[in-house]
Amino acid sequence: MNVLKWYDQNQRTLPWRAKKGEAPNPYYVYLSEIMLQQTTVATVKDYFERFIKKWPTLKELAEANLDEILVEWQGLGYYSRARNLHKAVKVLAELSLFLSMPTDLKKLPGVGDYTAAAIASIAFDYPVVPIDGNIMRVFARLFAIPSPVPLLKQDVYKYTSRMGEGGRSGDFAQGLMDLGAMICRPLNPRCTECPLKTTCRAYNEGKTTEFPVSKIKPEKPKRYGVAYILLHKGKILLEKRPSKGLLGGMMGVPTTPWQDEVLNPEDLVMFEKSSEWHKVSKQVKHTFTHFHLYLTVKVGIRQEICDGCWVSLDNLQSVALPTVMKKVIKQIPHEILRNCSKIN
Ligand code: SF4
Repeated sequence: MNVLKWYDQNQRTLPWRAKKGEAPNPYYVYLSEIMLQQTTVATVKDYFERFIKKWPTLKELAEANLDEILVEWQGLGYYSRARNLHKAVKVLAELSLFLSMPTDLKKLPGVGDYTAAAIASIAFDYPVVPIDGNIMRVFARLFAIPSPVPLLKQDVYKYTSRMGEGGRSGDFAQGLMDLGAMICRPLNPRCTECPLKTTCRAYNEGKTTEFPVSKIKPEKPKRYGVAYILLHKGKILLEKRPSKGLLGGMMGVPTTPWQDEVLNPEDLVMFEKSSEWHKVSKQVKHTFTHFHLYLTVKVGIRQEICDGCWVSLDNLQSVALPTVMKKVIKQIPHEILRNCSKIN
């Protein structure tokens, strides 16, 4: 098998991956696959290492507090993954065994077809090929599959459904992943170094740039809102977002709802009407998977404290703040920040 031979000599060293001769750690495989959903390997490495240092075993992660997990997850995005991770490890800890079949793994929160296949093959050598973007690209080129990206997965599945059998399914899957990441790259594939070059149709027909056939991406919609930074003696008012939905359970400054149109003055939240606000000239732009968000930032200094969660500006690192909220808080003008801490 060309892929396995190539993998034996060229595999990437990754913190969650078993070294040669060692058995994979299912907890590491599971944690890394959840983190890798929508996130690059380069970004995940640090997060993964921090997590396993803090929670070396699945049981310890299951016993951790969700807020603590969210703090460690800060910056990784797609926070529903962290909440699902916590729910799933609790289920696994209670079962006292790791599920190994894709059909069982898919019953865990946050585990879809791809993640279930990846965990089953890598951790347990289950004969299945997880089809991610890298693997789709390799197969699209290898067999010159003409389907555009939304339909490509099903066609690739027809090719892979009988692969991975006969042992070393996990290495085969990881070999394909590494091949897609290192050799069969989206731009400028390194075909002369590829173990599949003799059979690759796209390469042999000089058509590597034509596969995978791309779809035209629709433009992301825009949403707008106002974010309120309320300060009192070196502290900032934060609130916890509802546990369900975007950034669920994370902390942030109060905002108006995020909507499709630029806000009218009458849409402003109640307390805006009773405070004096300094409007920050630059809007904060943040892109989520399905939309671009534009937030107008307003900063107010409160002479008297009101109800709510007031956190010291010096202690924000202990709070689970998503990236968009960090961007908002960075907008506090230096002058206001100085005045605010003088009052402290
Ligand atoms: S020969 Fe080139 S296009 Fe074909 S699989 Fe290898 S790297 Fe990809």
